[in-house]
Amino acid sequence: MRPFEYHVPADAATAVRDVAVDPTAKFLAGGTNLVDHLKLGIVEPGLLVDVTALTSAEIEDRDGGLWIGAGARNSDLAADRLVRERYPLLAQALLAGASGQLRNMATTGGNPLQRTRCVYFQDVTTPCNKRVPGSGCSAVGGYTRYHAILGASDHCVATHPSDMAVALAALDAKVHLLGPDGERSIPFVDLHRLPGATPEKDTTLQHGDLITAIELPSLPMARRSRYRKVRDRASYAFALVSVAAALDVADGVVREARIALGGVAHKPWRAHRAEEVLRGAPAEAESYQRAARAEVADAQALEGLDGGNGFKIPLVTRTLVAVLRELS
Ligand SMILES: Cc1cc2nc3c(=O)[nH]c(=O)nc-3n(C[C@H](O)[C@H](O)[C@H](O)COP(=O)(O)OP(=O)(O)OC[C@H]3O[C@@H](n4cnc5c(N)ncnc54)[C@H](O)[C@@H]3O)c2cc1C
Repeated sequence: MRPFEYHVPADAATAVRDVAVDPTAKFLAGGTNLVDHLKLGIVEPGLLVDVTALTSAEIEDRDGGLWIGAGARNSDLAADRLVRERYPLLAQALLAGASGQLRNMATTGGNPLQRTRCVYFQDVTTPCNKRVPGSGCSAVGGYTRYHAILGASDHCVATHPSDMAVALAALDAKVHLLGPDGERSIPFVDLHRLPGATPEKDTTLQHGDLITAIELPSLPMARRSRYRKVRDRASYAFALVSVAAALDVADGVVREARIALGGVAHKPWRAHRAEEVLRGAPAEAESYQRAARAEVADAQALEGLDGGNGFKIPLVTRTLVAVLRELS
């Protein structure tokens, strides 16, 4: 492991400045992903800037929504009374991730910025365009069970691993940032990106952008919401596919739906097509099947040494239908 410096600056603005001027520098929060990457040799920063004491850990009620400081730990967020009442899908997504000990360390800022679990990305002896741009993608024709069926490119077929991020994408969350040019906020659905020809970039953030908080809007329909994760083991495993959904049904008709899918793409996948099909449709299985089929209409299965990932298309379709039926 390459030696690095470790800073604990006095405030967030200094942290941002320290990282912005050093292209290799990284923010360090709970360290549950970044420290693994240091050990594996995936990243070799010259400087780690510890932000755990600089970002708020508060979870506050704001006009019926929630303001979640980037330093709030995943276990505290999952246990928060307002989260469980107003956004049960978020509490369920958090509890479906990692383990109790990891959730005690993992933060609201660090969780959505964890990197793919693609085995080739994590194995520095294999080519990977995300780790070393231009080196090739070993997953194409390799082991693809955990890889993308939507929005992939020839350069990268990796999936985004966070469960929490899928719930935040469904909830129309907002990300508050402090960057080298000051404060700004962006919709959560614009935080992550599809790989295209530059898969080394997971997000739309600039180097030195610090997540300071995540804001959830007031969304009464989210009180009736679910997160369902399908995985190879019942715990301590990443999603093969997952569904985060909230449904507003009145008089047997869907008034509104919020849906995001996990384990299917390079980013949490907001299911706009399915939502569109559902709006105004009878709240019944046939509508849910139509919605799910519309969402995966452009899905592309990958072949692979392990039999490929074609199973994900019917799996995500059936999981979405099951979640919607449960909600209605
Ligand atoms: C064995 C194991 C199993 C796991 N299983 C799951 C699972 O099933 N589901 C799941 O969702 N996750 C899982 N995880 C991942 C875990 O949830 C993440 O590692 C954790 O959420 C990352 O948060 P952190 O605070 O530790 O981030 P760190 O590791 O400290 O940082 C992660 C990245 O975010 C950046 N960063 C951190 N904070 C900020 C900030 N405020 N602003 C800007 N950049 C920042 C860092 O520079 C780094 O690039 C698992 C991890 C392990 C080790």
